[in-house]
Amino acid sequence: MSSIFARIVSGEIPALKVFEDHETLAFMDISPASRGHTLVICKHEYPDIFSIPPTTLSAVSHTTQQVALALRDVLAPDGINIIQNNGAAAGQTVFHYHVHVIPRWDGDAAVRLWQPQSADQAALRALADQLSAAIQQP
Ligand code: AMP
Repeated sequence: MSSIFARIVSGEIPALKVFEDHETLAFMDISPASRGHTLVICKHEYPDIFSIPPTTLSAVSHTTQQVALALRDVLAPDGINIIQNNGAAAGQTVFHYHVHVIPRWDGDAAVRLWQPQSADQAALRALADQLSAAIQQP
């Protein structure tokens, strides 16, 4: 069964499109967090950050920047959140890679992603070393 976004790409389901190229599509979020909330997707159905190829990720990033620039020009927000969820625990509900571009205004309460917490510095350093060792160098 195709994702709802794959059905938007194929034209089976309508969407308010703002940009399209051969690899990516941008359209208005149907339940926006703020005025101008736009989604950028890859046309091919990759579920998440783990499965999307780097070149496609790069194309989505480029379109995300184009959308952010357009939102800045049209709505003049005070800021913009770029948010991308992976997995149900992270809030992902549509399992087709997408980026949220969310304009923000001073004092709005549209998005609050985390509460900062203190961290043990030795544990932080150990984790940084572990991650560094796990990253594949090209
Ligand atoms: P996420 O929770 O990161 O998976 O985000 C999914 C987003 O897709 C939500 O913000 C929904 O409002 C949005 N969405 C779901 N269906 C549609 C649709 N048919 N058209 C536009 N946006 C949609």
